[in-house]
Amino acid sequence: QLEERIQALEASKTQYPEVTFLSYKDRKRILVTGGAGFVGSHLVDRLMLQGHEVIVADNFFTGRKRNIEHWIGHENFELINHDIVNPLFIEVDQIYHLASPASPPHYMWNPVKTIKFFILGLARRVRARFLFASTSEVYGDPEVHPQKETYFGNVNSFGPRACYDESKRVAEAMCYAYAKQERISIRIARIFNTYGPRMHMNDGRVVSNFILQSLQNESITVRNTPYIYGTGKQTRSFAYVSDLIDGLISLMNSNYSSPVNIGNPDEYTIEQFALIIKDLVGANSSLAFKEAVTDDPQQRRPDITLAKTLLNWQPRVKLIEGLNKTIAYFRNELLVKHHSERN
Ligand code: UDP
Repeated sequence: QLEERIQALEASKTQYPEVTFLSYKDRKRILVTGGAGFVGSHLVDRLMLQGHEVIVADNFFTGRKRNIEHWIGHENFELINHDIVNPLFIEVDQIYHLASPASPPHYMWNPVKTIKFFILGLARRVRARFLFASTSEVYGDPEVHPQKETYFGNVNSFGPRACYDESKRVAEAMCYAYAKQERISIRIARIFNTYGPRMHMNDGRVVSNFILQSLQNESITVRNTPYIYGTGKQTRSFAYVSDLIDGLISLMNSNYSSPVNIGNPDEYTIEQFALIIKDLVGANSSLAFKEAVTDDPQQRRPDITLAKTLLNWQPRVKLIEGLNKTIAYFRNELLVKHHSERN
């Protein structure tokens, strides 16, 4: 069965998914930084299918060629191995700036570089419309619940998460300054926790950790059990990746230039979340607890009134449906990994 799947994958490589034909005036040149990453590659798929010309700039720190290889060689697609800390001179109509390590272990690995991760100078030179992938982390450990865009947040500027939270905050400030001073058209998406296929297997985040731990417990070792950091009473609200992509594209094509929350208000404690995943996977492992991590936000849920009103957008995919697709993806990844390790 696995052989068949691998053969099907090989065969599909030469065939491109069918893209919509767009006339020259409707077709845009769009740069996606971080386009080989988890969210970026789903956005690239959508933009390509819509018939746009897409340029991906990625340094493959957390992105993977596999996520976009089905477009390599397509006439509307270009891949540049580029680290966006350095300037990039290309003419485009729109820029989705998604390049940034997003999971805590990844962004803490090189905190200085994390802080340098923005390329607003590019938008200024080419005068492209610029969508910045900001984050719910700008709200820090929020004292207001749920979080509206007007909440200023509660961020520790001196701690392990600061490199991420504060650089996203300063990047929002840069967007504002460029918009005022240079008249750049900007869009700011405050993205809440997102999950789905193509998430990095080892990114250390709760969805990938809990799914992998539950799956591996099934077949490999009894030591792999979901580990909850702290009490497990902290909450998160998870959006499925296709909902996020709908939101990002609607925001880019709107005329609103202040921050907009894009997330799913469906909120769970981390303990509930562990139990749901364990049940869906069918694992019989117990839950285990570890020490809490520093500055872990204790509650998080987006208020999406603004996105609903402005963009007529709201998430559609239910948690169970999205998790089942994600679990199927990870199951397959593990199969392929074991297969390649054996050969
Ligand atoms: N978490 C956990 N076990 C894990 C990974 C994460 O209990 O193996 C917790 C983490 O402490 C946090 C929540 O799950 O409270 C979400 O963590 P994640 O790193 O996925 O995202 P973020 O903290 O950036 O929202």
